[in-house]
Amino acid sequence: MRLSQYFLPTLKDNPKEAEISSHRFMLRAGMIKQQSAGIYTWLPLGLRVLKKIENIVRYHQDEAGAHECLMPTIQSADLWKETGRYEAYGEEMLRMTDRHDREMLYGPTNEEVITDVFRSYIKSYKDLPQNLYHIQWKFRDEIRPRFGVMRGREFLMKDAYSFDLTKENAVYSYQKMFLSYLKAYTHMGLKVIPMKADTGPIGGDLSHEFILLSDTGESEVYVDEKWMETDVSGKDVFYENREQLDKYFKEMTSIYAATDETHDGVGAPANLIKTRGIEVGHIFYFGTKYSEALKATVQNKEGKMVPVEMGSYGIGVSRLVGAIIEANHDEVGIKWPAKVAPFDVGLLNLKVSDQETSTACEGLYGKLKAAGLDVLYDDRDVNAGSKFADMDLIGLPWQVIVGPKGLKNGVVELKKRSTSERNEISLDSLVTTLTTDIKDLKRGF
Ligand code: ATP
Ligand code: MG
Repeated sequence: MRLSQYFLPTLKDNPKEAEISSHRFMLRAGMIKQQSAGIYTWLPLGLRVLKKIENIVRYHQDEAGAHECLMPTIQSADLWKETGRYEAYGEEMLRMTDRHDREMLYGPTNEEVITDVFRSYIKSYKDLPQNLYHIQWKFRDEIRPRFGVMRGREFLMKDAYSFDLTKENAVYSYQKMFLSYLKAYTHMGLKVIPMKADTGPIGGDLSHEFILLSDTGESEVYVDEKWMETDVSGKDVFYENREQLDKYFKEMTSIYAATDETHDGVGAPANLIKTRGIEVGHIFYFGTKYSEALKATVQNKEGKMVPVEMGSYGIGVSRLVGAIIEANHDEVGIKWPAKVAPFDVGLLNLKVSDQETSTACEGLYGKLKAAGLDVLYDDRDVNAGSKFADMDLIGLPWQVIVGPKGLKNGVVELKKRSTSERNEISLDSLVTTLTTDIKDLKRGF
């Protein structure tokens, strides 16, 4: 992409309304534009990151055996009246009526709709287990939208719903999602800790929140110091190996980690850390709460109709964009982990008016693209200082800096954004160096 032709409205000054780094940098890097409280347009750069996160989540949901579908954003109130949640949900639900005076709502979550889908088709235990998910916009009329996309009113969520005949099998479905979440967060370059959570109004008796430790998080949390050294990647654990998965789940949930609501001191270790965190996912097993209300029953082995056992599993896809920035930035900008970066490389032409520099840049731009990298080529006729500042702000993992001085000696500069490490590299070996580095970091997807 040529920056001179791109839509990247970066801002020099800090927007007054932004209280935390991620919000500030998302506005300044031209990723989002607020349209009204908690509602945003995703500008091209921001959308690229959102899509990458979405794809990582999708990859790991599919791998865990869930099937993607897409439910509507607008739902009829009827199903919500069947479960009693139309009244219970309160003011966070955005309600509306259509031209026939039918009560409709913008979905804040999808237990009702998915259970309706399920009950329309699945009638026998032979067709179980099932796990359906979608990645769809939600609306919750949050009393205090803030921190940009972290607590929006309209936000993108991945929500999955599992259906099983028995509680035992439902727990296995739950554990598969638990593993899928840990793998997905690791894939995005994050260390996220599973914490025992309250099941709240959704009901049921097994629930975990997935929390990224961060001073700017809204949740107060208590974690065993041991978590700092614990590997949460879930690597080498397989969904199909039920015994191994169960052992892993027990291991992960035996180390103390609790949110403010669940921290009661029982079983808390001496080396407890009190800190803050961002909730980037939440999973629930809630049994037959919705299947009973909506009469989603299946025939069991004895020929009897029984309500299906369910769980629901949410990941805050749009919140993750902000959360990743909270965990990866310095005072001048974002430092994207390679797998979620909007582009792999920024190519900086320090002197557009110089024929030799521009020819070298054009050559590199073509070669890097041909090698399969996403390149943002800063070919604008602006001073070098603005180019450096913008590149550091938008935080691409690598910068290739090309100027007349270096070219005289046949070299360009390669800067790694995460460490600010700079190296001179010969023009000839740049493409090989970069593609090897980046391929290494991109492996496993
Ligand atoms: P919170 O306690 O932060 O309000 P929640 O418990 O209401 O979250 P869930 O209903 O479990 O959230 O939704 C699943 C995930 O969706 C959350 O873990 C979070 O990452 C994300 N999410 C929830 N509300 C918002 C919001 N207003 N803006 C952005 N993401 C959100
Ligand atoms: Mg909420």
